[in-house]
Amino acid sequence: MSNTSAQPGTVYLVGAGPGDPDLLTLRAAQLLAEADVLVYDALVSEPILDRVKPGAERIYAGKERGNHTIPQEDINHLLVRLAKEGKCVVRLKGGDPYTFGRGGEEVETLAANGVPFEVVPGITAAAGVAAYTGIPLTHRNHAQACVFVTGHLKDGTMNLDWPGLARRRQTVVIYMGLHGLATVCAKLVEHGLPPDWPAAIVQQGTTPNQRTVTGTLATLPGLAEAAHLKAPTLIIVGETVTLQSKLSWFEHQAWRDD
Ligand code: SAH
Repeated sequence: MSNTSAQPGTVYLVGAGPGDPDLLTLRAAQLLAEADVLVYDALVSEPILDRVKPGAERIYAGKERGNHTIPQEDINHLLVRLAKEGKCVVRLKGGDPYTFGRGGEEVETLAANGVPFEVVPGITAAAGVAAYTGIPLTHRNHAQACVFVTGHLKDGTMNLDWPGLARRRQTVVIYMGLHGLATVCAKLVEHGLPPDWPAAIVQQGTTPNQRTVTGTLATLPGLAEAAHLKAPTLIIVGETVTLQSKLSWFEHQAWRDD
């Protein structure tokens, strides 16, 4: 099955992983090398775009914060149109397409329009960042559960299940949370976690620009602001953050100082 070459008239919804091109799946690399058209997001890194077949058409469907280049509705229909023109389309998304990626919405439209599709999972930011920064998502001594949530602010607020998140023995990973960091930390304390509960924020994980700031629910917002972090960033809250100083490896690599 995985040896099947890319078919015309089909849309491949492909996860690009968190940034490091070595974290692409074999299937993703193969499809990038074969596609006629690539429709890609802002989160897809340059070294990954370098793997696209020379001469393939590239359509940027980027979503920077507050600046939706192409409305989601139009992206959905663009994919349908390109496939109906008989093209082999790769829809490339950062991380995993079914994790905060609106991949579900795009595939629903394809299915509704009878367009054949395939979905290729990618390494989601939480998994990539955890590995490269040295914060295990679960650990027998610290966390038996892990929750992924979006910290995206809607009308300046965040509608999350705070009592469910403010629990010990679990790791909470917050996507899209940079602008809501102070709110997240305050709410978790308000709902019962101690102010000295460990928390970290990681900028551009798995890329040469990866930076990790660790602190506590009380200190992290100030530390993050002082660090002038650049998107994308991921917030990780939980006791396993305390392991980071021991388990960190990627940010010490010699090539980073070149
Ligand atoms: N589908 C993606 C998530 C898209 S939502 C995935 O599975 O990873 C976008 C959010 O993902 C960003 O706001 C950020 O919180 C997170 N993110 C994506 N790539 C990241 C990276 N390299 N480092 C840190 N956070 C990242």
